[in-house]
Amino acid sequence: MGETVRAAVQTGPRKIEIREFPRPVIGPEDGGLLRVEACGICGSDVEQYKGSMGDRWLPMVPGHEPLGIIEEVSDRAAARWGVQPGDRVAVEILIPCRSCDLCLAGRYMSCANRIGSHGGGNPPERGLGLWGGFSEYIHLHPNSILHKINNDIPAEIAVMFNPLGAGVRWAVHLGGVGLGDTVLILGCGQRGLAAVLASRAAGARCIIATGLARDAGKLALAREFGAHHTINVEAEDTVERVREITGGDMADVVLELTPMATQPVTDALNAVRWGGRVVLAGLKGGRPMELSTDLIINKAINLVGAFSVDARGYTDAIRMIESGQFPLRQMHTHTFGLDDIALAIETLAGEVPDEDAVHVAIVPESGGAGGRPPASQQGA
Ligand SMILES: [Zn+2]
Ligand SMILES: [Zn+2]
Repeated sequence: MGETVRAAVQTGPRKIEIREFPRPVIGPEDGGLLRVEACGICGSDVEQYKGSMGDRWLPMVPGHEPLGIIEEVSDRAAARWGVQPGDRVAVEILIPCRSCDLCLAGRYMSCANRIGSHGGGNPPERGLGLWGGFSEYIHLHPNSILHKINNDIPAEIAVMFNPLGAGVRWAVHLGGVGLGDTVLILGCGQRGLAAVLASRAAGARCIIATGLARDAGKLALAREFGAHHTINVEAEDTVERVREITGGDMADVVLELTPMATQPVTDALNAVRWGGRVVLAGLKGGRPMELSTDLIINKAINLVGAFSVDARGYTDAIRMIESGQFPLRQMHTHTFGLDDIALAIETLAGEVPDEDAVHVAIVPESGGAGGRPPASQQGA
């Protein structure tokens, strides 16, 4: 690599520019340097791009789903992480303190003394730097959390550790989906589709996925991934369809993954069986809504808030990816280079006419390929 590193810097709403940074020097107390192979994009990148997450971290290098190759690593960090140069790793967003009560209890995603994050804000004492994944290289902090992934898997697939980790955690770890369960998944974006795969892998007997009329392609993919039924919520009543499909038993587990819409939360409470479990993971941008707490009490519903993904979710997701047994390739629709990040985010956001995006990855080395189609266009 040269003396400089190219990275995308967000400076304001819908403002992203490429800047050159000096190559970080990795000292003995440092973590390491990661060559970014790919970085995924999700709904929160869209919100951050639009400016709805505020500007207190700007300017910053976004990109919080990075995958790459260890280029350099200090001896100390190499021993702690169990990695060496040439290893491929997935990087978690949060850089926790690893010492507070929450970290020690394994709830490091809520660390009170967080050092910073990879793509979710700059470490305060270090300021603007190469922390986010929309860059050729990332500076790894000694407290960064890494997960090794087999080098042989295409980068666009390996980088799905993030959405798949969410699907595993939300459906299986938090939702408790197991053998013989009926699962209703509200929303069929990349995380909804990942939840279909995870539910199938966990042994669910009946998987029902929902989407809007414009999600026809994603619902077809959901069926290919193992959903037994799909519901177009604009044409059918979700709760009535679930009643019909289950013969009145309703769903054992409901995952509410839709962004911004509030009706699906009520649908989730109505579609779950007595004593069932509802996992909420679709953020509503602070919108107020009416919630029937009587329904939650009278049906003895277990209501779970799903904040983020943890190491267990990523580990299980990586095992699923490495198994090669899941048709993940079908979900990957777009690859963009570093120079086309704005276009990549707008494509995922559905702002680009005629582009039906599911999983979008930034691949810095693809040098601005501008949405080159995936190996398989099926289901896109
Ligand atoms: Zn994300
Ligand atoms: Zn902590």
